[in-house]
Amino acid sequence: ESFNDFKVSESIKQALMDLKYNKPTEVQQKVIPFALEKKDLIVKSQTGSGKTASFGIPICELAEWKENKPQALILTPTRELAAQVKEDITNIGRFKRVKAAAIFGKQPFDRQKLELQQKTHVVVGTPGRVFDHIKKGTLFVDQIKHLVIDEADEMLNMGFIDQVEAIIKELPENRITSVFSATIPGDVDRLCYKYMKNPVELEV
Ligand code: AMP
Repeated sequence: ESFNDFKVSESIKQALMDLKYNKPTEVQQKVIPFALEKKDLIVKSQTGSGKTASFGIPICELAEWKENKPQALILTPTRELAAQVKEDITNIGRFKRVKAAAIFGKQPFDRQKLELQQKTHVVVGTPGRVFDHIKKGTLFVDQIKHLVIDEADEMLNMGFIDQVEAIIKELPENRITSVFSATIPGDVDRLCYKYMKNPVELEV
C-alpha cells in the first residue's frame, strides 16, 4: 500500500513524504477512502495508530483554500491534543497553505479571537472554549463542512459530552461527521446515531 492509492493531491503527498510517512498505517488505509467520499464515520482506534493523519489528510485534501471562514472543526478533550492536531494538520497541509488554529482554555481569549479573524480553514479546540467563541460570535461556524470528535470516550470521561452536543447543534446540518474513540461507550454511540447519517463503522 502507498499514499498513491488514494485520490490525494501532489501537494499533500509531497508533505507526507517530507514527514517520512512512507506508507499509510492501518487506520489510514481504512479511513481515508471513506473520508474522501464524505461518509460519516465511527472509528474505533487507539492513539498512536496514526489516526490524526487519517482525518487530517482528507480534511486538507477537501479544504478550499479561497474560503476564509473555517470549514473543518476538530474537537479534542485536552489542550495538548488540540495543539498536536493543529501541528499535524499544518504539516500535512503545508504546500496547500492550509491554515489551522488551536483554541483552548487557559489561554487569552482575545489572542484566539485575533487568530480567528485571520484566514482559518481548520479550527481545533477543546469543547468549552470552542463553545465560548461560537456564542461570542468570534468563531463563525456557518461554513463548517466537516466535524471530527477525537477521543470521544475521553470527552465523556471528562464530562464534556453535553458541551459537544451543544456545539453540534450550532453547526450546519449539511456536513460530514467523524468520531474517533478507543472504546465506544453507550453515550458515545447514542450521540453518534443522533447526529450522523448512516455512519460507516471501522475498527482497527
Ligand atoms: P497519532 O495516532 O495520530 O497520534 O500518530 C502517532 C504517530 O505516528 C505520530 O507521531 C505520527 O506523526 C506518526 N504517523 C502517522 N502516520 C504515519 C505514517 N503513515 N507513517 C509513519 N508515521 C506516521
